[in-house]
Amino acid sequence: MVHKPVLVEEVIDNLNLQSGDVVVDCTVGAGGHSLKMLQHIAPAGRLIGIDQDRDILKIASENLKHYKDNIDLLYGNFKDIDSLLKSIGIKRVDAVLYDLGVSSLQLDTPERGFSFKSDGPLDMRMDKAAAISAFDLVNNLPRYELRKILSRYGQERYAGKIANLIVEKRKIAPIESTAVLSHIAAEAYPYRARFTRIHPATRIFQALRIAVNSELDNLETSLDKAVNILNTQGRLGVIAFHSLEDRIIKNTFKRYASEQLVKIITKKPIRPENKEIADNPRARSARLRVAEKVKV
Ligand code: SAH
Repeated sequence: MVHKPVLVEEVIDNLNLQSGDVVVDCTVGAGGHSLKMLQHIAPAGRLIGIDQDRDILKIASENLKHYKDNIDLLYGNFKDIDSLLKSIGIKRVDAVLYDLGVSSLQLDTPERGFSFKSDGPLDMRMDKAAAISAFDLVNNLPRYELRKILSRYGQERYAGKIANLIVEKRKIAPIESTAVLSHIAAEAYPYRARFTRIHPATRIFQALRIAVNSELDNLETSLDKAVNILNTQGRLGVIAFHSLEDRIIKNTFKRYASEQLVKIITKKPIRPENKEIADNPRARSARLRVAEKVKV
């Protein structure tokens, strides 16, 4: 259950870090990217690591203990990056990084309910203190809303069929586990589409996770705040794992560029080399985009 950080060298090459910089890792996770960043900003630099998963912050703290005097680990949602930084007296920073999605540690813990590959409760909350879980959505949302979530966030072709079957099944008994939901997905798929390379549950799980954690809204809110707290020449780096995220980042960066807030550093997103993908399948869909603040 190790989490291998994705595109680490590329992140470091493009964030232009200097010794003494103040940087924010909005998704500190197990601290893979943070550790590399700390090596570049130490001994005088400071890194603020944010995560909404309390359990993971404990792991980050352990993995980064060598730099304990240079770090602040903050529990919270990156959509509140402004108030989180304010709470420790920081107004401006030199770099902000996002490595979106869930970590392998979360994915590989069946009780968290993120994966259809092992059975667990239908949860999917990155922040265990959050009010709404995947169970709530699957068992309570009206059919048309379920359909909308599956089609919008999962780009799921059979969203209507799956939503119908969910509604039918939950009349008999609540849908409580990842395995049951995964079976429903397979059953709703036309027979010929069930056994393709991508499991029928893949897109539903992606869609529900995005909805449960308000992932796209939080990203948009946070980017607008991050770009404001960057120093001139400070860099903003974002790693996306699916096209919905990547489109938001691309369009947001374009908007900032048209407002003369940033210069886009990566005309095209940076993709991992084949060697990295072979070492770490999670890297397969990763795309890094970087922008540089033009003026404060
Ligand atoms: N770069 C990390 C891995 C990050 S995985 C490493 O190298 O180890 C993504 C992490 O971001 C997860 O731990 C998840 O809990 C966290 N996360 C996702 N969305 C978040 C949000 N809106 N606010 C705070 N943390 C978030």
